[in-house]
Amino acid sequence: MVLAQLGGSIARALARMKGATVVDEKVLAECLNEISRALLQADVRFETVHDVKANIKSIVNLDALAAGTDKRRIIQKAVVGELCRMLDPGKPAFTPSKGKPSVVMFVGLQGSGKTTTCTKYADYYRRKGFSPALVCADTFRAGAFDQLKQNASKAKIPFYGSYNESDPVKIAVEGVDRFRKEKCDLIIVDTSGRHKQEAALFEEMRQVSEATKPDLVIFVMDGSIGQAAFDQAQAFKQSASVGAVIVTKMDGHAKGGGALSAVAATRSPVIFIGTGEHIPDFEVFDVKPFVSRLLG
Ligand code: GDP
Repeated sequence: MVLAQLGGSIARALARMKGATVVDEKVLAECLNEISRALLQADVRFETVHDVKANIKSIVNLDALAAGTDKRRIIQKAVVGELCRMLDPGKPAFTPSKGKPSVVMFVGLQGSGKTTTCTKYADYYRRKGFSPALVCADTFRAGAFDQLKQNASKAKIPFYGSYNESDPVKIAVEGVDRFRKEKCDLIIVDTSGRHKQEAALFEEMRQVSEATKPDLVIFVMDGSIGQAAFDQAQAFKQSASVGAVIVTKMDGHAKGGGALSAVAATRSPVIFIGTGEHIPDFEVFDVKPFVSRLLG
């Protein structure tokens, strides 16, 4: 994962700052410039990088520190704190409870890994003792139902969909109703994606959401899309009440900045990351251990 490179660069910037004989404004400015460069290279957008830098500066405020204060530790703490803040919007995402029926709707562009991720998510909770089920409300892409069916069968998860029905709202409602009756406690609705953000997609998402009243809307984003991540995430946030993000393809060339940008744009936490094409290639995302690991 190229994210490790970002962590490495930030860790090196901090090590250089700590190694300086005297930590003054110049050393702090050099350290912050180095960190900013690393974030920009990782595709974090300029505005976010600017905010991070400004926040660290205002937290550290070297002039106001009493003599004898450990400046190095204060700077290190501020940097780690800001990285965590960037990745943690401050409010946790909804988590399903066993035995209590929840509806979780997945949204995202075509190719982002949405359908694969629905099954990974279902499988994750099945292992925790839930009874999940999958509903394919994607009537736009030919073969979408077959794909979901194949994935679901492989993971032994009940599924619902139709080859003939073209109304995604109708399928979503029928599927949710059926699995509620069957006492499934986690009903996952896969919606259709399009090649690009367009009004029809967002209208369909709104209608499916209104009809199924999901407890959580998860935005699935391809981690390798770089700078485009912020706008894409924001567009989805504006049309659906996105409550959590899953970033896929973090095993490939993803620089990680996309994940940071998606959090900034949606003010929603990243809850999992996808690390491969197969069902177990899925990791819980926890900010603090992630940042600690990132910095080595
Ligand atoms: P959808 O159009 O958004 O439903 O996307 P799909 O679930 O069909 O996934 C598109 C492609 O991305 C497929 O080839 C998946 O196997 C692949 N894919 C999904 N998630 C990951 C991931 O985390 N890592 C990798 N390497 N490939 C993934």
